[in-house]
Amino acid sequence: MSDRLVLLGSKGGPALRPRGPWPTSTLLELGGRTIVVDCGLGVTRGLVDAGSSLKTLDLIFITHLHSDHVLELGPLIHTAWTAGLASPVRIYGPPGTGHYWQCFCQALEFDIEIRIVDEGRPDIRTLVTVEEFAEGLVLDEHGLMVTALRVEHPPVTDCFALRFEHDGRSVVFSSDTAFFPPLAGFAKEADILVHEAMLESGVERLVARTGNGARLREHLFASHSLAEEAGRIARDANVRRLVLTHLIPADDPAVGEADWIAAVRKTWSGDLTIARDGLVVGLSGAKAASGEETA
Ligand SMILES: [Zn+2]
Ligand SMILES: [Zn+2]
Repeated sequence: MSDRLVLLGSKGGPALRPRGPWPTSTLLELGGRTIVVDCGLGVTRGLVDAGSSLKTLDLIFITHLHSDHVLELGPLIHTAWTAGLASPVRIYGPPGTGHYWQCFCQALEFDIEIRIVDEGRPDIRTLVTVEEFAEGLVLDEHGLMVTALRVEHPPVTDCFALRFEHDGRSVVFSSDTAFFPPLAGFAKEADILVHEAMLESGVERLVARTGNGARLREHLFASHSLAEEAGRIARDANVRRLVLTHLIPADDPAVGEADWIAAVRKTWSGDLTIARDGLVVGLSGAKAASGEETA
């Protein structure tokens, strides 16, 4: 299995629009491990379409508990379980992740109990373990190292960027964050920085269309980064490739890839990918994986 990143869901926020993109989730295949980062709505469909077997679900990381990052965590694992998952799954998430998982299992108690008896399945509640993490080292196992950095996403305080390293390769996820300069140090020399991004002109159009415009505008600018700010982090970190995802707006027909590229090129001249659902980014140096799109 060659290392790759698949952007399963690329939009910011929980809303769905006709034929629009899904909220945030990403598949990272690194060093033979299958790693899911965030579980917004659509993650299960995205993994299946990316050719990933649900039966081999292994490590899941949740960056914070906003619903566009966690809503489908339970349904993903439950669907994998009904598909024949029989090996342990570990969920790493901020404080509160264990509560989510316990409540999910309670909500599905009828179905879980009946399938154990009727279909002879292992107990999903013993297959899954939840590890709640804070800033610092999250996991160091078989050459895979994962570290977390608390980022700036008010009013959420437990929101973490994540860095994955294996055999000299490194991928960093910003999670949701306002412009946060310490992220550049955390992402230093990474092969890929996956950073959230807003397009300023698009946000103004979004705010104008929304009833509660002033409040929304205030939240977005206090809690998220503009594309050019993501570019500054990538430049200061000297990463090999910047991937913009969690796009806001992601479903405005007046906003196209050229607009995102124009914004980020003010601060970043290196390799660049603008996320789209299902897009694959290779991690094998100069050789691009099939389906990879660069700009
Ligand atoms: Zn989000
Ligand atoms: Zn968020």
